Amino acid sequence: MVPQTLSLAADLYGCPNRCLHCWLGHRPNRRMEEDADRFIVDCFAPHFERIAFYSWFREPDFCDGYEERWERDIALSKNARPERFELASFWRIVRDERYIPFLRRVGVRKVQLTLFGLRKTQDRYVGRKGAFDEVLRATDLLAVGGITPRWQCFINEENRAEIPEVRRLWLERKEKYPEMEFFVHEGSCEGENRRLYPIRIRKEHIPEELIPDYLGYGSLLTERECCALLREDRSAPSFPVGDELVLNVTAGYDVFTNLTEMSGPWVVGNLKRDDPAEIVRRAVTGDTPALRALARHSWAELADRLGDSASGRAFSLNDYRMYLVNEFFERFPS
Ligand code: SF4
Repeated sequence: MVPQTLSLAADLYGCPNRCLHCWLGHRPNRRMEEDADRFIVDCFAPHFERIAFYSWFREPDFCDGYEERWERDIALSKNARPERFELASFWRIVRDERYIPFLRRVGVRKVQLTLFGLRKTQDRYVGRKGAFDEVLRATDLLAVGGITPRWQCFINEENRAEIPEVRRLWLERKEKYPEMEFFVHEGSCEGENRRLYPIRIRKEHIPEELIPDYLGYGSLLTERECCALLREDRSAPSFPVGDELVLNVTAGYDVFTNLTEMSGPWVVGNLKRDDPAEIVRRAVTGDTPALRALARHSWAELADRLGDSASGRAFSLNDYRMYLVNEFFERFPS
């Protein structure tokens, strides 16, 4: 059955960063045509009762005129309203004094900022010199402007000695901004982050002082444990759609669900070439090249062929499943 609600996001403006962990992938900042937003919504409007439209799925508010852009996203939506989430552009926070008051006006009360380590590491991981200083400055500006900053840190074998230092920086700031939050995790293993598999954090190497702030530590497994669990699972990978469908549209009009990384096997269709009704059918029934191919395999087989059962790399079981399926297409392209 087709869900009644669609969250529809288009990469209208791109992103100023090139984070090494980006699950959405590094794609060019190609400005879409002026009326691309209307065209995209019109493609799906006949098929859904409610559509919440977003003009971004990478950096929110990256475009100039972001206030009007937000109003236009609302106006284009159908019987629904786009949400703000706890996301904002730290690039814009430090460049535009009107931005934090705007965030407050549209109801943002907490913003997540991402850290990969200290200055040199952060700048390299974000792909821009100055990114570390910008995050620190954005933290102060948010807190003073009445929005709670939350730091999320990605840990791996390369930066594991720096993350406790970052935590100390958080503790210093927390004295000034008591509501400020902090957490650490290993991140998924999709998109660009899959390239970081060789330096994925080993569970035994997670510094003890980080464990209280480690997201999902209680259910964190080693790759060895994931392999052992999945080797018992003879079912084929399948990912049924829930009550709400999320579709991302690239600057080239390729359509993807938000199930996993936006790579070739997962493309659902292209809005310039395919009938939108057919794109909806494929998205809802899982009729993509990836899911058709995976139906011929089992979790046990994928774990057997692709897993490293001697590895102490840290994963949640679901992240490990997504790592396996994407690794499968990388190693065995059809
Ligand atoms: S993780 Fe977010 S900010 Fe970083 S490159 Fe990807 S979309 Fe841009």
